[in-house]
Amino acid sequence: MVGDEARRRFQSAKTGRGPAEEGFEEGLKSPCDLNSLPLQHALSVDVEDWSNVVVFQQRGQFVPPTEAVVRNTEILLELLLEHKAQATWFVLGEVAESFPYLIRRLAGADQELGVHGFHHEYVWSLSESAFRDSIRRAKNAVEQAAGKPVLGHRAPAFSITNQVPWAFDVLAELGFHYDSSVFPAKTRRYGDNGASLRPYQIQTHYGSLTEVPLSAVKLGPWRLPCCGGGYLRHFPLAYTRWAMRMLEREQRPAVVYLHPYELDLSFDRDYLIRQLGMEKLTEVWWRVRMQYRNRGKTVARLRHLLSKRRFEGIARVFHLDEVRGCPYA
Ligand SMILES: [Zn+2]
Repeated sequence: MVGDEARRRFQSAKTGRGPAEEGFEEGLKSPCDLNSLPLQHALSVDVEDWSNVVVFQQRGQFVPPTEAVVRNTEILLELLLEHKAQATWFVLGEVAESFPYLIRRLAGADQELGVHGFHHEYVWSLSESAFRDSIRRAKNAVEQAAGKPVLGHRAPAFSITNQVPWAFDVLAELGFHYDSSVFPAKTRRYGDNGASLRPYQIQTHYGSLTEVPLSAVKLGPWRLPCCGGGYLRHFPLAYTRWAMRMLEREQRPAVVYLHPYELDLSFDRDYLIRQLGMEKLTEVWWRVRMQYRNRGKTVARLRHLLSKRRFEGIARVFHLDEVRGCPYA
């Protein structure tokens, strides 16, 4: 459904300032106020194969994910288990269909499973019905492999924007309890400085849905993205540690995100040449270099964070596994 009413609802929801939620940002006022809870942080992993996503983005053609996603996910899982940590693993449907045993392994290790789309298509590039079909197929694949229902969704590249106000309706219709796709800081590729920094409830035509935004911290008039992905890899670890202390001062659990491939130092040049051709690979060489920058530091940085703080999946941290809708709003 695209229309003024839906767009207004989206705007109201994303700022967390609907008629019933004035002052939400200044402090949560319900009995479920996070101030009363011991602070633990949320860890999330977008499970995708870097090589096949690059091929899809450059050629617009779907190719199966490679075994690298299995290898990298297993390494990351071992690291988490070593530190008794839990994460939400937002899995691409194509990964769940290709490697169901990997999803079973995650589920068996008491990890939370979520959905990250089927082929890593940006939500704003899809029609409402194509989005519904893609998410339904991905949800089925993950649930069948995991043997339990999934509650959460994260859009590829945080691509739920005000161009797709129907997205939350579709997610609620398909039975999701929450979404974690809004990036509340403007960057070159995504994000929105007007979005709420805290979780908020969205009323859809199929009941309420909770949005759990990614982490950003306020510094004067600016909002700084932090806690995961390129921000963990490219910036010194001191930046992430500072950002997490800022979040803790505000009693805001961090929502850290990363990808299994960010631990992978191997580079399958032959695969990319076969799939893209040498000319195309040369064209995207700068992007490849940036993707590989500091990958060798990811494990040590993650190990540091895991040893200093307690991490759980999003549903557990924000108490979304039992009730549908935000318990705080
Ligand atoms: Zn992704």
